[in-house]
Amino acid sequence: MAAHFRKLALIGIGLIGSSIALAARRQGLVDVISIATRRQETLDEGHELGLGDIYTLDPAEAVRGADLVILCAPVGTYDALARAIKPALEPGAILSDVGSVKEHVVKVVGPHVPSGVSFIPGHPIAGTEHSGPSAGFAELFAGRWCVLTPVPGVPEEHTEKLADFWRAMGSSVECMDAAHHDMVLAITSHIPHLIAYNIVGTVADLEDATQSEVIKFSASGFRDFTRIAASDPVMWRDIFLTNRDAVLEMLGRFSEDLSVLQRAVRTGDGASLEAMFTRTRAIRRSIINAGQETPRADFGRPVVAPPPPETNVVREHGGGDDA
Ligand code: NAP
Repeated sequence: MAAHFRKLALIGIGLIGSSIALAARRQGLVDVISIATRRQETLDEGHELGLGDIYTLDPAEAVRGADLVILCAPVGTYDALARAIKPALEPGAILSDVGSVKEHVVKVVGPHVPSGVSFIPGHPIAGTEHSGPSAGFAELFAGRWCVLTPVPGVPEEHTEKLADFWRAMGSSVECMDAAHHDMVLAITSHIPHLIAYNIVGTVADLEDATQSEVIKFSASGFRDFTRIAASDPVMWRDIFLTNRDAVLEMLGRFSEDLSVLQRAVRTGDGASLEAMFTRTRAIRRSIINAGQETPRADFGRPVVAPPPPETNVVREHGGGDDA
């Protein structure tokens, strides 16, 4: 099998690392999986879930003899991790990652990659708001994109082998430049998270009475922001610290567009509002057509029907509603 590896080392075993372990195992893509974490509790949890074969708190030990190493920790840890694993990386190995930003990863990991090791950063565009080893599931990457940003000079066959690995886990793969990735993800992922954190933060600052009303009536829209705003705080802190330029560039455009909307609301410019909302509806349709979202109403949430009306109800007091 083109995508087969002898030993896969996963540094970090949260949502993404555990999903890779489960998917790679299910598809028979690896013989041995070694896992390294920072904390003993996380390592024990991964062990109890049977996610790997070798468990260690030493990242260098985990990567020794591995022909595929994937960093699956928050990107803020990458610099120290790259320094730690450098002496143990085997010539001929592929070193990759799943970090949500890519230029920063190239900058901090790149200088520590020994010659003979192929450095191919990656980013599966798949996830949930849950974290930790028990959050993973083998189907996480099915039908989702995985972006690879190989650095210059990496053998083509290594990029193709890693792409095959992701395809075997159900992903479609696209290669692009790291800076381009960061700009695209700034608007498709990072700014939406910033907006969600902001709107939910605004509610958190409201006085108690108003806040309880917002929570009570949250199904009117607010609730959908809270899912995104429940994402892991450390991971998202690192994303905003490491993709600053692209986020600020896109935030500038967003603010300008928001001012246009604000003006339309203030001046009662219904035609502009309607034109804008018609364009945005078309974007939603194209995401559904691209298979990246369900066409079902309300994201396919189950409808909780009210209980059927009771029959033969004995009304002790004759009922007063009929008059
Ligand atoms: P997560 O569920 O919070 O898990 C993070 C893992 O990293 C934990 O196992 C943690 O172990 C480990 N870790 C942290 N510091 C470490 C260190 N110094 N050395 C070794 N392991 C360390 O995170 P995740 O959601 O899987 O995200 C991991 C990466 O995937 C991030 O870079 C993120 O940007 C990227 N990503 C996330 C999503 C998403 O939706 N969640 C989507 C695409 C990409 P301890 O508990 O021991 O600290």
